[in-house]
Amino acid sequence: MKIVAIPAFNDNYIWTVVDNGRAIVVDPGEATPVAAYLDANDIALDAILLTHKHDDHVGGVREVVEKFGDVPIYGPTEVSELATEVVRDGDTFELWGVDVSVSRTAGHTEEHVSFLMGDALFCGDALFYGGCGRVFTGDYGAAFEGMQYFAGLDDSVRVYAGHEYTMTNLRFAQSVEPDNEAVAAAVEEVAAVLEAGEPSLPSTIGREREVNLFLQADSVEEFKSLRDIRDGF
Ligand SMILES: [Zn+2]
Repeated sequence: MKIVAIPAFNDNYIWTVVDNGRAIVVDPGEATPVAAYLDANDIALDAILLTHKHDDHVGGVREVVEKFGDVPIYGPTEVSELATEVVRDGDTFELWGVDVSVSRTAGHTEEHVSFLMGDALFCGDALFYGGCGRVFTGDYGAAFEGMQYFAGLDDSVRVYAGHEYTMTNLRFAQSVEPDNEAVAAAVEEVAAVLEAGEPSLPSTIGREREVNLFLQADSVEEFKSLRDIRDGF
């Protein structure tokens, strides 16, 4: 089983789990690059996972399904028009014999969820490498709770976030904590990876524990004040 990043729009990644000529696609905001990848590699579609309602994560769903056939679509209530399986916090199901667990990681949107499939975390726009999603709902308590969920995962869990925002996030962290050596080291490492044209993702929960100030915040207030500064960064 491998997990492939299909780039979309300016900085989205459509994560695609591939095994034995079959695929599970996460947040297909755009159909064209997904169809191109599946066709070029002769891969059939088995399922779609949706983290939240934003168009750059769900905009390609109907077209993908039209082209590759009706498959189960797992997503939260806010995408119930698209989802065939509406999922809620605490739900678990199996794909290819692998356990998938659903956690509400709201704040960016009302009902954003993250999927943990084995040790792969598909967290949409809730958690990024070095950062987190903008809290469009204004519900900082929910966003902070989501951070507590992520912080409770094993260090080895790989973080497949929805956007390539890593360098901006790390630069932000550096502006807040100029002496943070883990952040400085991550900036150098990520710069080299991006220079080579590779995604900086996946990250790991262990790495996020070292460099992600939002994950390190001890209270909703601290989380919100960081988020406020980041929003204007
Ligand atoms: Zn979003």
